[in-house]
Amino acid sequence: MDKKFVLDLNLSDWEVYMKEKSYPKFRALQVFSWYSKGVLDMTKMSNVPQEIKNAIREDFITDSMSIEKHLVSEIDGTQKFVFRLYDGHCVETVLMRYKTGLSICISSQAGCKMGCRFCASAHAGFGRSLTRGEMLGQVLLAGSFAGERIHSVVVMGIGEPFDNYDELIGFLHLANDEKGLNLGARHITVSTCGLVPQMIQFSLIDMQVNLSVSLHAPNDELRKSIMPIANKYSLSELLDACREYEKNTNRRITFEYSLFDGVNDTAECARELCKVLKGIHCHINLIAANEFDGSPFRRSKPGSVRAFQDLLEKNGMTVTLRREMGTDIMAACGQLRRGMQEKKET
Ligand code: SF4
Repeated sequence: MDKKFVLDLNLSDWEVYMKEKSYPKFRALQVFSWYSKGVLDMTKMSNVPQEIKNAIREDFITDSMSIEKHLVSEIDGTQKFVFRLYDGHCVETVLMRYKTGLSICISSQAGCKMGCRFCASAHAGFGRSLTRGEMLGQVLLAGSFAGERIHSVVVMGIGEPFDNYDELIGFLHLANDEKGLNLGARHITVSTCGLVPQMIQFSLIDMQVNLSVSLHAPNDELRKSIMPIANKYSLSELLDACREYEKNTNRRITFEYSLFDGVNDTAECARELCKVLKGIHCHINLIAANEFDGSPFRRSKPGSVRAFQDLLEKNGMTVTLRREMGTDIMAACGQLRRGMQEKKET
């Protein structure tokens, strides 16, 4: 992208721009405030002179994101958006209602290179990484579409956020900016499949953002059969990075553990998991795995899920079972994009 997308700019970028164009400095805050409210339509920017709007249209990409598809679950009201980006790539965003308010799950890349075998996004291939503005755009546009302020953000949709590290950090600053969206860092969670160097780097940023790690297995052999990233970083390297994160941030880590029938849901796996996580200040989020055509795994039976959870709890672990939402609209990561891509290919 030669030209930048308008949402990629923070307030000081806009100030630099206004200075270069010899416009008054206060125009920067006006423009930034409109964009931070999710107003991309410049005709609505009532306090911005036409001359500045024309210049912005000339110098930036102003219409990079549109809603291609919007689905609402009849079961629980979960909303799914498919956004089309300026170059035709699509990403998915899911909006869920919790007691605390609206939570949004955004994508960080169009597709994913990590190849987790249980994931529909991996099967649909990799397009490109998103810019910080395209991540922010998902929050702003879905929020303004819903007509309600977003309470929390999880970067857990399509893509591996740490494979797009600089743009991810840029997004976190944009979302957290008190003159912009002003979303508290503690209301943001980043989820990784376990890119060790970036996890350590992330532990040193001066922001109270939550970290969630996709674990899915208690040993290397099993993890390698589920997630190719385990061939690059061993479980012990991964857990060392988690300890370092805990030491540097004093924050509790969340481990995501999807349960696959007969693969990683046995009593033996549960005991081994307790053993390897001993001493790490953590929370385990069990997930009833999603099934899709072509997936080599089947979801665990309800009895196995219960038994697994019980065993962890008996061993003193803090565990929750993630509530399934939007199952009638394929709300899980990548399923809709994959479906759309397959339709295009046929
Ligand atoms: S689970 Fe996440 S990291 Fe793994 S392939 Fe899917 S999107 Fe990528």
